[in-house]
Amino acid sequence: MKFTRLRLTGFKSFVDPTDFVIEPGLTGVVGPNGCGKSNLVEALRWVMGESSYKSMRASGMDDVIFAGSGKRPARNVAEVSVVLDNTDRTAPAGFNGDDSLEISRRIERETGSAYRVNGREVRARDVQLLFADASTGSRSPSMVRQGQIGELINAKPTSRRQILEEAAGISGLHARRHEAELR
Ligand code: ATP
Ligand code: MG
Repeated sequence: MKFTRLRLTGFKSFVDPTDFVIEPGLTGVVGPNGCGKSNLVEALRWVMGESSYKSMRASGMDDVIFAGSGKRPARNVAEVSVVLDNTDRTAPAGFNGDDSLEISRRIERETGSAYRVNGREVRARDVQLLFADASTGSRSPSMVRQGQIGELINAKPTSRRQILEEAAGISGLHARRHEAELR
């Protein structure tokens, strides 16, 4: 699976629909301070099911919605979608029927988030598990935040083990076992 497209509408500073085509190889995002580079990475984490508004540098999840600037009024809805190329058919079970997967998350003020995979409504959990099974996701070692290497070095053995389990692709199984035990 490969990310091929990222689309943002009303998300943070990206008020107008903005489409990023992700070509094969390394992609770099450059631009002056405050132009939205970090917002872009946050959008990617958000659509993968990030549930912590703090990690979105927000004081509530509604803060990811465009808050207005200059003459432009605030919006009430934000949407991010990501397209995955699945022609190699490596998407996790349950999502492996199509050559491409479009995962979207939409938030409306005071209403919360709704997720879709290829137009079909799914739970946040389904999206989080999809990425966990693919050994990626908003908390996975494939997303390296600023300061994270330092945290890793100073981490307790149990949290370091969690990171290794993510990398080994078994954290999705752990999450399911935890859910099963709660039932
Ligand atoms: P740096 O190079 O300093 O790291 P950056 O390119 O990473 O900058 P970001 O942090 O992504 O920049 O973008 C910050 C900008 O996004 C600020 O101008 C901020 O006002 C704007 N912004 C953040 N949240 C919202 C929102 N909800 N509505 C409108 N604008 C927002
Ligand atoms: Mg930044």
